[in-house]
Amino acid sequence: DAVVRLDFYVSHTLGLSRKEAKVIIGKGQITINGAQVKKASQSVQQTDVIYYRDELLAWPQDKYFLLNKPAGYVCATEDGEHPVVLDLIAAHEQKDLRVVGRLDMDTTGFLLLTTDGQWLHRITSPKSDCPKRYRVWTVDEVSDAALRELEQGVQLKSEDGLTKPAKAERIGSHEILLTISEGKYHQVKRMLAATGNKVERLHREAIANVALGDLAEGQYRSLSEDEIAQF
Ligand code: URA
Repeated sequence: DAVVRLDFYVSHTLGLSRKEAKVIIGKGQITINGAQVKKASQSVQQTDVIYYRDELLAWPQDKYFLLNKPAGYVCATEDGEHPVVLDLIAAHEQKDLRVVGRLDMDTTGFLLLTTDGQWLHRITSPKSDCPKRYRVWTVDEVSDAALRELEQGVQLKSEDGLTKPAKAERIGSHEILLTISEGKYHQVKRMLAATGNKVERLHREAIANVALGDLAEGQYRSLSEDEIAQF
């Protein structure tokens, strides 16, 4: 578990400068697990119970957000040219946030952001097989044969082997739901290309059992503990 210096911890949890934190510590106003500590360089860890007088200084919690990404935003925390998804998060909640996976700039919908590196890795690792559901609008009609191909696996350009079995469900002549359990670069667009079609618009609706629901475009919300535990 993470270990930080006491003055760092006090300054962050109380919103003080490092210098101000050192003064408080020097005055003996901080206790760790019931014992007064006056050493600013003392190491503290997540399991320690730290008080400033009678105020509990809680360890900063990790953040887990679900964002409904609008088109035109890049999945990054910084970009010289285009707006980035982090711009849609309130300034005081942006610190240390990372984007979980990538959606193309023109793709909309379900996007996770978190400060929890292990959780992020669990979802994005190539070994992870979280099903991701996309709503796909196509330029040409999707034939029944193409639906079956998408389900059984198609050959992507410059990849070895077929895509993993997927679920493809027809919504209309030019609209399908495609659920895939891998995440190769531009995978959905390349899968449709492999069937001779082209993606007109792409929207991710869900990953695993967590769905966008009625979250408005450009809005975000915190995940519940149950949702966090699904990944
Ligand atoms: N597949 C794509 O082609 N683009 C995305 O943004 C996500 C999946």
